[in-house]
Order: sequence, then structure tokens, then C-alpha cells
Amino acid sequence: VTVYSRTDDPRLEYPGPVSAPAPRVVVRRVSAFDYETHLAQPGLAAPPIVVASVANSRGAFLLTKAQSIEWLRKQLLDPCAHVVGCNLAFDLVCAAVEDESLLPSIFKALDEDRIHDVAIREALIDIARGDLVERGSEGIGIRYGMTLLAQRYFAEDLRAEKKSPDAWRKRYALLEGVPIEQWPWAARVYPMRDVALPLQIFERQEGQPNLHDEGNQVRAAFALALMSTWGIRSNIDSVAALRTRVEAEDAKNTIEFQRAGILRADGTEDRKRLAALVADAYDGAPPMTAPTSKFPSGQVCSDRDTLCESGDPLLERYGRAGKNDKYLTTYLEILESGAVQPWNPQFNVLVATTRVSSDAQQFPQEGGVRECWSARPGTVYCSVDYEGLELRTMSQRALWAVGFSLMAQAMNAGLDPHLIAAASFMGITYEDAKRRYDAKDPIVKVFRDLGKIWNFGKGGGMGPFAMTFNARKGSKGEKTTAPDGTVYVGARFCILAGVATMCGQHKTRGKVQGKEKRVCTKCLEVAKKLDAGWLRAWPEQKALFDRASKITKSSRYTEVEIPVSRVKRGKCGYTQWLNTPFQGLGAHAAKRAMWLICKETYLDRSSPLFGSRLVLNVHDELIAEMPEGRAPEAGDRMADIMRSTLCGVVPDLAPSVRAEPALSRTMSKKAATVRDATGRLQVWEPKAAAA
Ligand SMILES: [Zn+2]
Repeated sequence: VTVYSRTDDPRLEYPGPVSAPAPRVVVRRVSAFDYETHLAQPGLAAPPIVVASVANSRGAFLLTKAQSIEWLRKQLLDPCAHVVGCNLAFDLVCAAVEDESLLPSIFKALDEDRIHDVAIREALIDIARGDLVERGSEGIGIRYGMTLLAQRYFAEDLRAEKKSPDAWRKRYALLEGVPIEQWPWAARVYPMRDVALPLQIFERQEGQPNLHDEGNQVRAAFALALMSTWGIRSNIDSVAALRTRVEAEDAKNTIEFQRAGILRADGTEDRKRLAALVADAYDGAPPMTAPTSKFPSGQVCSDRDTLCESGDPLLERYGRAGKNDKYLTTYLEILESGAVQPWNPQFNVLVATTRVSSDAQQFPQEGGVRECWSARPGTVYCSVDYEGLELRTMSQRALWAVGFSLMAQAMNAGLDPHLIAAASFMGITYEDAKRRYDAKDPIVKVFRDLGKIWNFGKGGGMGPFAMTFNARKGSKGEKTTAPDGTVYVGARFCILAGVATMCGQHKTRGKVQGKEKRVCTKCLEVAKKLDAGWLRAWPEQKALFDRASKITKSSRYTEVEIPVSRVKRGKCGYTQWLNTPFQGLGAHAAKRAMWLICKETYLDRSSPLFGSRLVLNVHDELIAEMPEGRAPEAGDRMADIMRSTLCGVVPDLAPSVRAEPALSRTMSKKAATVRDATGRLQVWEPKAAAA
């Protein structure tokens, strides 16, 4: 029995001084819990349970599958019982798969902050310290596995033990159906030892920063684990067509690159030849990799960006195709597996800004990849994304931090913030810009596009060099066509602004995230002018930027707090100080909405969402699979929850909050909201020509 003081809900009033809330004395009984299961495999993210281990103040013990369900049910329903684990969402989903009658009590315990996860706690603590482990050795979802935690807290190396040939960790399926008394000693000891560690770690984490937000993150992790387990399916015909197309293109490219000597006859890359071509293209001074002991002066870079920016058409094509093309290896394989069994995306509940990341986010936006995902028979996809989420959270942050925001005023009044930026760039009034834009003036359209790039990209304090570099990558499929018909990848400011007819004739060197890069000198000049125009349009951002410079000038690093969730992030530089609060604010709203939607889909029989399943969380967008007959009402309900959640998080921007549902049979960025004459939601169908 532990007695502790617990702080109240941190989501109260912001800003203002943090007064210490009166401690509430709560009695709690803490147990650690862990399952040993069959191995997870593609399409089976929550495999069958073999045995459970529990540790509490009295010691550690094993439970059979049936005992574990009853034990868990008792804990989940007991308001004083707290359950601790490491990546516990997985164990809870396995239990729910075994006995779905557990679901209501799992949601209840999660809502009561009685489910704890030492991995999530450690990530929150590390965010406060500014030391989040971004990449783990155990896959995208498992940065904070027991191996890392045991090393940190007990200086114990679990790796050797886990790899030893008689380790049972991955072989419990062999013991399915064998009475526990007959198990080998090692198979009985391992889970009891392993479950005791999180209990001790949990106690030692108490009192560390950011743990007030644990409940929100653990709830999000559970919703994400359910999503991952449900998985998404692909359409076998669409995938086959995509493979045919990609392979034909690849065959054509291979012949070209073999002729040029970059590829050998067997298809392997001739690195020496490539390095020589790159060096030539860069007039003998190519970008070099960091020096290593083997290559003290570094090696000639041959990454995609170096190739694409070499100015040599062959290298540019090589950079965009061939070896650097991930379609053939990664994406097609995933898509093909999704036609055989569900593909289970991997989510990481928490990056340093408190956003979610996942392997699904890395999927290309264009090229027909997304369109291969296809809703299960009888269901349709519903996608809802927050319109300009970060413009809203950025403005709310400005209101709280500097007391005013012209962007908030503009958006609440229904004005177009991109057009306001465009008007400022061009030195004309908003009314003029609006009139010309409505009359389809191509120049205003271009400046509005640039305004959009600045509104979404500049709030994090990115300098003109990085803005130019990022825009040129064209990561969302942007292209720029020069007057002579040459098509460039990405947004090229010099051509768009009409100050050059060719991009990249002269280059300027600079650094992006510590790496040396070169960008078009003319593009950079345009970017500098647009920067000034943007700050004139939004003086609140100027005030924030000034404050950021002041704070990060003397000491290189500082701490920043995300409003509402009050999660602190340590060791922030200039850009992190600027972008963490508004990105975190958006993440807080999106996770809260995801949780509420998830709960209705599983539990609330009175909700139109009951029976739908969330399948993806990609940036500002949630995607669900819905029974087609109920989808019109379910889609509206989903958008409703998303809007009202965001309104609560950015109260001063509430009039501007938009999120509309779009129903479709395959995933598509083009999917749009379609309603019939009565306003009832309809399934969007792609145009016949596109199909
Ligand atoms: Zn340029």
C-alpha cells in the first residue's frame, strides 16, 4: 500500500503562475503486469497469450491465461488498483482480444489514470531533460524497451540473457497447453524476473517532471495499439498495377544508368564512377560526408539531394530514380502483404514535440501508393483532417505568449491567411489581392502559394536558407515549371517570383541541421524578401521570434512548456522554443479526439460511431473504417468530436476551427466531402477518367 500526493488535472487555465494544487491523499495498490505470448507476426499484432506474470509488494507470481483475465478484470474495476507495465498497451490489447468483455473496464481504468507505462514515463521524463531517445534498436514503437530501462536503472545488461540459446522469451508458444508445474525452471523464472523490474522503475520515476501527462499518453498509446492491431488492407489489383508501372520505369532507368556507367551489368552501383561524375558536376568541389577513420577527408556525397541539385540532368534523374527509389523495396512489399493479411502500422506515441509518429507517415503522398489501401468489404474509409491545425495552435500560442495575434483575428473573421501573406509580399492591400485572386490573376495565385509555404513553414523560425532548401525538396509532390517548360522538383522561389528563368544557375552554401547544403542564390534572395513580408503581415510572430532570439542567445539551450498539456521540453534551441508549443498543442488536441472517438467506436452503442474502427493517425488527420450504411452519420460524429476537442484547446480560435469528413473506398488525398441535397454525407468516387 502506497500513499502519495497527486496533482490535479493540469489542463486548468493557461497562462498564469502555476500554483501548487492541494495534494489529495489517495491509497493505491500497484501491481506490475506482463504477458508472454506467441510471436507477433504480420497481420497478427496481438498474438495468443500463453502466460501472465504479476509483481506486487508481496512478490512475483505466474497466472494461466484464464486466471490472468480474471485478475486483470479485478484490477481494472478496483478504483484503488494501479497496473504498471512496459509498453503495456500491447498486453492490454492481447487481453482484450482474448476476452472482449474486458474492454469497458480497460477504457475505464485508462480514463481514471490507473494504467501506467514505465516506457512512456521515461520518454516524458527525457523530454523534460531534452534527451529523448528518438530511435530505438527494437523498432519504431519500442524506443524504451526493458533492455534500455534495465540498463539505466539497474546497470543490468539484458541483451546477453535475451539472446542466449536457452532463453524462453520468444518460445512460449511451445509451452501452450503444458501445465505450468511441468515447465522448465528457466521458463518459469524469466517472466517473474522481468515483471518485477517495471515495478521498481515505476517507483523510482515518481516525482520526475512531465508525469502529470502520463494518462493522456497512455490512453493515446492504447488507442494506437488498437488501430495497429486492426490494421489496413490493400487491393491486390491496384498493387499489381502499381508494381507493373514501377518495374517498367525501373527497367527503363536501369538501361540508361548502365549506359552511363553508374550501374554495372549486374545492376550494382559503381560508386567510384558515381563519385567522379558528382565531383565533375560540382566543378571538382563536391559536398563531402563527415570524415571517418577509414576516410579521413570524407567521401563524395551521393545522397538524393546532392544528386538532384548537381545541375547534371543524368545525375538528377539518377537521384530521383534507381537506387534511391524506395517503391520497389519498401512500399510495394508492404502493399502486397496488405493484400494477404492486414498491414499493422507501427506507432510511436511520443516524439519530442509530443506528436505521434508512425511508419505510415513515410508513405509517399503521390504516385498512387495511398490509393492502394482499400476499405474492407462493406466498409468505407472516413478521413477527417483539421484544416490548418498549426495555424490555429500557432495563433493561440501567440495570444497566450505575447497577448495578440493578427492571424487569429483574420481567421476568426473568415479571411484567408495565405492571401494576407501574399498581399504583404506584394505590397498591396488584402482587398486588392482578394479581387485579383478571385479574378484568377496568376501572379496573386503564385504569391498565395508562397504565402501558404511561409504560413506553415516559418512559424518554427526556420531561416531563409532552410526555407529554400526544404521547399525545393518537393516532399509533397510540388513541382515548378519554368517559362521554357523545364519542370523542377519542389517549389522554386526564383521562378515563381519571376526573377529568374532558370533555377540554380548560381549556388550559395549554407547549413541545414548542421549539414552543408547549397541552394539557388536567386531563390535565397526571394526567400529573404518574403521573410520580411511575412513578419510584416504577422507582427505577433516577429514578437515571438525576438523573444526566442533573446532567450536562446546567452545560453544556448532553454526550456519551453507546451500550453494546456503543460509538458516541458528541455534543451530547446531557437526553433524548438518556437515550434514545440504549437505543435504540442495540436498533438494534445488530436490525441484527445482520437481517444474519444476510439471509445465510442468500441463501447458506445448509442453512438453512430459504434462498430467503426480507427485505422490511421497521420499528422493532423484521423482515418477510420466505417460500415457503409452508418458511415454518413458516423463521419459527421467523428468530425464533430474533432472540432469540439480542438475548440477546447484553442478557445480563442474556436470560430475558425474546421474539420470535415470525407468518405471514400480507397485512401486518397483527393477524397473530398460530398453531401446530397439534404446535407447527408455521400461516398466520394474518383472521376472515371482517373480510375
Ligand atoms: Zn532558384
